[in-house]
Amino acid sequence: MGLFDKRKTEQSIEEQEPEHLSLNDADAEKAVKTEKEGFFKRLVGGLTKTRDQLSESLNQIFHGHSELDDDFYDELEEVLIMADLGLETTDRIITDLKRRVKEYKIKEIEPCRELLSGIIRDQMMVDDSAYDFEEQTTVMLIIGVNGVGKTTSIGKLAAQYKKRGKKVLIAAGDTFRAAAIDQLKTWAERAGVEIIAQQEGSDPAAVIYDAVQAAKARHVDILLCDTAGRLHNKKNLMDELAKMRRIIEKEYPEAHCETLIVLDGSTGQNALEQAKQFREVTDLNGIILTKLDGTAKGGIAIAIQAELDVPVKYIGVGEKIDDLQRFDPSRYVEALFADFTVRSEIEMLIEEDNDSWK
Ligand code: GDP
Repeated sequence: MGLFDKRKTEQSIEEQEPEHLSLNDADAEKAVKTEKEGFFKRLVGGLTKTRDQLSESLNQIFHGHSELDDDFYDELEEVLIMADLGLETTDRIITDLKRRVKEYKIKEIEPCRELLSGIIRDQMMVDDSAYDFEEQTTVMLIIGVNGVGKTTSIGKLAAQYKKRGKKVLIAAGDTFRAAAIDQLKTWAERAGVEIIAQQEGSDPAAVIYDAVQAAKARHVDILLCDTAGRLHNKKNLMDELAKMRRIIEKEYPEAHCETLIVLDGSTGQNALEQAKQFREVTDLNGIILTKLDGTAKGGIAIAIQAELDVPVKYIGVGEKIDDLQRFDPSRYVEALFADFTVRSEIEMLIEEDNDSWK
């Protein structure tokens, strides 16, 4: 397999054919190409800090050793842990690497690089059905502690679904903070979608009830529900989320209910711990991992997939409305592990990659 895995199966939201492109085939193709370039550039750009740290350390290891000995594996282990892949995942990766090196009778250092990225990619394959909900009538419960990027992610998702022709409604289910309601209203306006909100302090379940009725009446495709982000009392949280789910199931049985947890990627292993705690109180369908830009802890995406067995479905790589992408493990690993030392090399790779989609 070449440097870029040419898989087309898990297209990002931005990679889907935009609907407005019907002028002529050449224009449409050019616009799609530009959009794909933008998508991959944003991913590469967003992961700069993790990539810089990883590729520099990996370069040192791969160029500084001539043999696949214990020193090589020890240093590799250290680098992966530093990138926040976590002990358990790192251990699994190194064990697998040693096994494959033996199996393929590899004696050289360099082929190990591609082997390593392949092993890491294998740790996090997202099931093909992970995004089926986007094509169904869906109520999404967005959960997570305050500050992780829930509101921002809801706004970004709303805008992107809308761009793809979906009818979207937002429910301001975090009624504990007036600021949360106002902020969500701003995002709804920015995304050009409607919002159901009540006063600060009102019953969140009542907001969800109203929103579900509105979603049914307005033939909404995707209802995005914000929820309060408190973790201090597990029982309260569990009861509240269960109550919301009951309302959705009772009032809207034909809709699919998708619970996504938002985690702040820049907190590294803490994000993994939070996901574990939330998993104890509710079923999780997936993860939105935010703030991967501006952190060198991007390896956490790999640790989360490998250790939790809950797929990362979207990643946030910036604060702008377009900076949320579907998570594509192949591209993520390539964006992290490719030896992007020269700017022109990045351009060349992006071009090669886009050519392969024609
Ligand atoms: P909430 O309390 O969970 O709703 O968090 P917010 O949505 O208000 O986000 C908290 C802060 O994180 C805001 O300043 C956002 O702009 C910022 N933020 C959210 N997602 C991202 C991201 O992917 N990258 C960056 N750099 N900042 C983000």
